[in-house]
Amino acid sequence: RSFEELGLEARLVRALSKKSIEKPTPIQRVAIPLILEGKDVVARAKTGSGKTLAYLLPVLQKLFADSPSKSNLAPAVFILVPTRELCQQVYSEVTSLIEQCRVQLKVVQLRSTMSASDLKTSLAGLPDIVVSTPACVHTCLKNGILQAKALQESLSVLVLDEADLLLSYGYEDDIKALTAYVPKRCQCLLMSATSSADVEKLKKLILHNPYILTL
Ligand code: AMP
Repeated sequence: RSFEELGLEARLVRALSKKSIEKPTPIQRVAIPLILEGKDVVARAKTGSGKTLAYLLPVLQKLFADSPSKSNLAPAVFILVPTRELCQQVYSEVTSLIEQCRVQLKVVQLRSTMSASDLKTSLAGLPDIVVSTPACVHTCLKNGILQAKALQESLSVLVLDEADLLLSYGYEDDIKALTAYVPKRCQCLLMSATSSADVEKLKKLILHNPYILTL
């Protein structure tokens, strides 16, 4: 099946084509339609499987539909990753798709190494998408840099990318703390290369009847 047949809009398909990405990978074929439908998804997916686009493409398409009526004071999408490198990688991938599609969506990276005033400035620009680590987002909430109430009202998608690494890098407590701010209607997506007892625990904590994809 082609990207169009999975339900993606022409502008996203064109953007992919410009990157010479023409055919969905197995994880993309299964995950994209489910995520477009608003389902919670757990995917066993490694780096190299195309897992980043598997969640980014449908999440962006949903934001395209929401953006004309946007009145959120906090970001709608949080993508939580374990490392600075992955943060940069995901950020570049989203930014390039947004530019190609010529849509008015804003994405920022929040890093633990940024000063409180830089974090504030980044969020004051009212980004639609934040790419960060659980610890950094947790700190922003504790310091009031990110308003808990605004977040609860605006959050529509939470992605935990490389969930197994998020846990082995010690982000479990931060993730647990963040779950208190995740509204019930929020769609949660969890990508993990492996499945462990800890990843299972995380699934139970934040996902609602998820579709489990093992490919
Ligand atoms: P990831 O698994 O997300 O780390 O992606 C690994 C690499 O594969 C990235 O450079 C993507 O741009 C590329 N990629 C993702 N999906 C596809 C696809 N359907 N066809 C060809 N390359 C892809």
